[in-house]
Amino acid sequence: MGDALTVRPGGTGLAYRNEAPADRDRHGVLWARLTEAPGVGRPDFRALHSYRQRHAMFHLLCQVCGGPASRTSRGVLFLIQRPGPAEVLAGWPEGVLSTKPPVCEPCVALAVRHCPHLTNPLALRVRKPRVWGVFGGLFSLTPGGLLAQSQTDDYLPYGSPAARWFLASQLVIELTRCSEVTGVPR
Ligand SMILES: [Zn+2]
Repeated sequence: MGDALTVRPGGTGLAYRNEAPADRDRHGVLWARLTEAPGVGRPDFRALHSYRQRHAMFHLLCQVCGGPASRTSRGVLFLIQRPGPAEVLAGWPEGVLSTKPPVCEPCVALAVRHCPHLTNPLALRVRKPRVWGVFGGLFSLTPGGLLAQSQTDDYLPYGSPAARWFLASQLVIELTRCSEVTGVPR
């Protein structure tokens, strides 16, 4: 937990002690800060990653090289993990949530090779990648009035009342109007 985190006056949510407008997004959700660990001179890589991820997602930039992601009339190119048979929901992959930014075509092979989660990749063209919400940690108040962070990170849709107690680390995009691309390079 960041040492700069505190509770809003009245106990109405999470805040930074010296909060700046840039600490929240346009939906009012608080974001993990890009900070240096004091005295160590080492950047907080999670926050650094978080900033790049958010920037790439928001502007649909390639997750590998940071250039514009591939875009055709069928949409923007995303790579997702093909789910197991038990995980396939009705209409899949329509509406799949992604924290991974899109890719450009030259970087597809590299993205597949370097992402440990993409063991069975599926390439999608997505006509409507839609900002859905955030990924991060939910906080709560202990009976003693201290901040406690949830054990696991989670997805939170924008508009949720829990957003007041959430510290976002990644932007989540919903992939809609998807079509499958065949022949993903390995
Ligand atoms: Zn690229």
